[in-house]
Amino acid sequence: MDWNYAQPVRIRFGNGIRKTLAEEIASLGGRRGLLVTSPSFVRRGVARELCDASGGTLRHVYSEVSANPDVTECDACVRLLKEHSCDFVVALGGGSVMDCAKAAATFCLTRHPAGHFLDAAAQIPPAHLPVIAMPTTAGTGSEVTCVAVLSDHTRGIKAPLASDGFYPAVAIVDPGLTYSLPPYITACTGFDALCHSIEAYWSRRHQPVCDALAVHAARLVLDNLADACARPDDTAARERMAEASLIAGLAFALPKTSSAHACSYPLTNMLGIPHGEACALTITHFLRLNAARGSDRPALLAKALGYADTNALADAIDALRTRTGLKSDLKSYRLTDTQVDALVQASRHPNLLNNPVDITDADLRALYTALR
Ligand code: NAD
Repeated sequence: MDWNYAQPVRIRFGNGIRKTLAEEIASLGGRRGLLVTSPSFVRRGVARELCDASGGTLRHVYSEVSANPDVTECDACVRLLKEHSCDFVVALGGGSVMDCAKAAATFCLTRHPAGHFLDAAAQIPPAHLPVIAMPTTAGTGSEVTCVAVLSDHTRGIKAPLASDGFYPAVAIVDPGLTYSLPPYITACTGFDALCHSIEAYWSRRHQPVCDALAVHAARLVLDNLADACARPDDTAARERMAEASLIAGLAFALPKTSSAHACSYPLTNMLGIPHGEACALTITHFLRLNAARGSDRPALLAKALGYADTNALADAIDALRTRTGLKSDLKSYRLTDTQVDALVQASRHPNLLNNPVDITDADLRALYTALR
């Protein structure tokens, strides 16, 4: 089996490590930066804290990023980057903020609006401004991936874009930034990290380094997510979830995600289910299905995590989803046959081809019918 591993992001991890921001900006030679964030970090004063600590280099703020960012938000970021001739970007937020900032840092060096790059044929040029990513959720791992997920709400599209230029230059992972996460967002984002680990492990492109990272991250989520949700001020659980998210990001950055993520995009786009909860809804279905269709990866993962078999692991994940208050079905949506058809069609995302066994439309229909 041939494989390779490379990871270009410089990582700094620890409680209070955000104090090193000025040092990291200086190491990039940054002089005029844009802070990209969401309104709540302006309200909480964290945006001001970072600007004040930046040695006068972080001069402008774009704080309008919403969950599942629209291409128009990315375009607004690009306008500010161009207008102020910025030479670096700091992203302070969850996956939505980091993805918007990563994409804007590349698109600002092109003449195209962000929506152009959602068309499959569009090439994303490699040139980009350096990005310092500071995650405030523990889930996406976007701080160490070359992926940015953008939506075009007017066209009903949500899709991941990938480019080597999207890798941040530096990830500053300060678990203290996640303390303010409410339990429901903690649960959604924690399940995203768990799905990254599982899907990386069974990916058709799985490889030994990422396997080891995936097992480490999955164990951290299984051992700590319930505590982080039940006791938001449990700093040890928060730190371990921040580590889980980062390591899960490293685990899937090369092998990529697969079936649960493929289904999550239409579940978010059409039904408004938050990203991690959307992934959580289908992960154990695919765990059981992949094992039943002959993939050895689910059983190997179960064993590595200390479970007797695939079913025991799937049962533990189902129990964790219920315990952390996430949905286990789609009953409340009262889905029509037309909506089920639309979910099946929209789940035929390229990520699905990365599932260890082939997934047919009939499989997807059976999945959504069982959840309905
Ligand atoms: P998010 O960034 O959308 O944030 C969810 C909500 O939590 C928002 O309202 C946000 O303002 C709030 N929030 C964030 N941090 C907070 C904090 N510390 N305290 C209180 N509130 C806080 O959620 P997410 O799950 O981090 O990101 C989801 C997005 O990331 C989706 O678009 C998803 O598709 C994408 N994603 C990207 C990658 C990647 O590799 N780039 C991987 C997985 C998911």
